[in-house]
Amino acid sequence: MPTETSGYAADKELVRLSTDSRARVPRVILRPRKAQPFFARHPWVFASAIEQVDADCADGGVVDLTTDRGEFVARGILNRQSQLAVRLYTWNPHEALDSRFWSGRIERAIELRARRGLFTPHGATRLVHSEADGLSGLVIDWFAGYAVVQLNSLATASRWDELAPLVIERLQPRGVVLRCDKTIAQEEGMQPRLGIAHGTVPETAVFIEEHGLRYGVDLLAGQKTGFYLDQAENRLAAARWLSERRVLDMFCYTGAFTLAAARLGGAADVLGIDSSKKAVATAEAHAQLNEVRNVRFQVGEAFESLTELAAGGPGFGGVILDPPKFTRTRRGVEEALRAYHRLNRQAVDLIEPGGILVTCSCSGGVTREEFVSMLVGVAQKSRREIQLLEQRGASSDHPVSIACPETEYLKCLICRVL
Ligand code: SAH
Repeated sequence: MPTETSGYAADKELVRLSTDSRARVPRVILRPRKAQPFFARHPWVFASAIEQVDADCADGGVVDLTTDRGEFVARGILNRQSQLAVRLYTWNPHEALDSRFWSGRIERAIELRARRGLFTPHGATRLVHSEADGLSGLVIDWFAGYAVVQLNSLATASRWDELAPLVIERLQPRGVVLRCDKTIAQEEGMQPRLGIAHGTVPETAVFIEEHGLRYGVDLLAGQKTGFYLDQAENRLAAARWLSERRVLDMFCYTGAFTLAAARLGGAADVLGIDSSKKAVATAEAHAQLNEVRNVRFQVGEAFESLTELAAGGPGFGGVILDPPKFTRTRRGVEEALRAYHRLNRQAVDLIEPGGILVTCSCSGGVTREEFVSMLVGVAQKSRREIQLLEQRGASSDHPVSIACPETEYLKCLICRVL
């Protein structure tokens, strides 16, 4: 009978709810009038927004965030050692942060990339992108059969034993490497677990393919997770504007923009410069591996190299600028914008009339509007007209959470400088 069935289901729901409420989740209570951003699903609760923490709350433990009136807002994980005191994971009071929850979130993230055809045996892609995938502090990059996992929060790092079997079961990787951003580890007050967490990993390189070009990625000691996957689509987009041009790729790392410009874009020649000797040596190896001959690489500091190159006048038909983060916080924004201005000004001076500027910022604290208006200032000072051709972000395997604007960290502007 339909009524009996629904009555039975309702009873079961009641039982489940009462079991949940018996296993009481400790509470973190917000200060008055501080709840709005969290109802809007921003996942970061800073210590300054918190009124009170229940005595039985432990760092790394699950907590319920409530308003000052006791209303449930969201469920997250506490870390009082960090300014980012609670990271929020669910807004559903009936959802426990258990293995089922984590595997569901990981699956939801992987499904996006798999459908897009990015999760392939020989390819490379970001499978899990932290807040943008509802998994604050968890990054998983896939490199042709190997996974590099960044545990960038106490919340995820202290749960690795629970997460590891889920990741391994789903990905069946040949090896898993644990990495952690050093600054984040300090801010989170934790000693990160690093190194090979599963299987075996080649000591030198794992080979991946991007746009038909091959790259060796050092999963254990390369920068970040070994390769800047967020720029994959921008490399192709930039290349399209660079045919027959003499190109400078500043901050070239292991040469991926350089090789894309030369091979896919048909640039006349490309000079790649980076301050890391190791990166430059790898870039040279990548040119050989892909038999690209019209490229050269130099070790050099960016501002110094730009000054030296300026002595020869505007000799480039295209300049790519992909510097490291200039600031991690809003506090450092003004100084960062001054540095971006200086860098872009120097680059513009090297560009022949009608040449292309590809300029990037991966500073999460700097907004797209601020970055564009920095360029307005550069145009004024250098008395050049700058046309915006493409306003780009990170590749589509790095989604942006509209509730968390900080996830839109990468700006990439392709411009013509007249
Ligand atoms: N464009 C690269 C990624 C660049 S990441 C790619 O597509 O793979 C930023 C790079 O800047 C790093 O390789 C780092 O070694 C380099 N770098 C950092 N500070 C620098 C400086 N002052 N001058 C030149 N290179 C620098």
